[in-house]
Amino acid sequence: MRRAGAILARVLDRLSSMARPGVTTREMDEEADRVIRDAGATATFRGQPGLTDRAPPYPAATCISINEQVIHGIPSDRVVRDGDLVSVDCGVTWGGLIADSAVSVIVGTASRDAERLVETTRAALLAGIGAARAGRHLHDISAAVQAVVRAAGYGVVREFCGHGVGRDLHEDPPVPNFGNAGSGPILRPGMTLAIEPMVTLGSPRIRVLDDGWTVVTADGRPAAHFEHTIVVTDGGPAEVLTLRNGEVVG
Ligand code: MG
Ligand code: MG
Repeated sequence: MRRAGAILARVLDRLSSMARPGVTTREMDEEADRVIRDAGATATFRGQPGLTDRAPPYPAATCISINEQVIHGIPSDRVVRDGDLVSVDCGVTWGGLIADSAVSVIVGTASRDAERLVETTRAALLAGIGAARAGRHLHDISAAVQAVVRAAGYGVVREFCGHGVGRDLHEDPPVPNFGNAGSGPILRPGMTLAIEPMVTLGSPRIRVLDDGWTVVTADGRPAAHFEHTIVVTDGGPAEVLTLRNGEVVG
């Protein structure tokens, strides 16, 4: 999983710097495929089953969600524009083990609102990671995420959440982005979790588009998404397996 995480970090570094006005989300996805293939890994998302019958298997290496799109945006000929809030989510499988990570970036000129939303979502992820310590409860992570989002006055998406990750992309336990500290299973060393706050500038209500995948905010206002795959350690802070170049947590 460490290897998968390192490859995935490279993918997200590359795509973050590629997210400039004029690039299409398909071009970004093709680049992700290239980086993954060159590393001898595979793109975990491609072929993942949809949540409903109307959703075909997932067709791409990444999910690229822009502005009011929260998650599961399918790469296309859509051109990225100045001021877009672009969330890139990707999974990498190496040696049968999976890492899952996402990052949101603002392309070009950022509005104050978008900037604060992105910073808050990142801070919520870091707070969640900080709470992921052996002996504590799973929902300590959830409560830590929720506290940061609530303090900023933003919405937490409830229909989707983090998850265990390892041999499968989505394993137990679910890791909600809201909940009560002191509840849920006890965290044990070696547990591998994907923590992933999805935060909305306005109402947290969402809907799924007719493609069966793309999740958008019901009120059309922007959302941000950050995710890391972590491993609970024996006594210390969680180890982040998907740290990007120069990124500091804790
Ligand atoms: Mg993900
Ligand atoms: Mg995930």
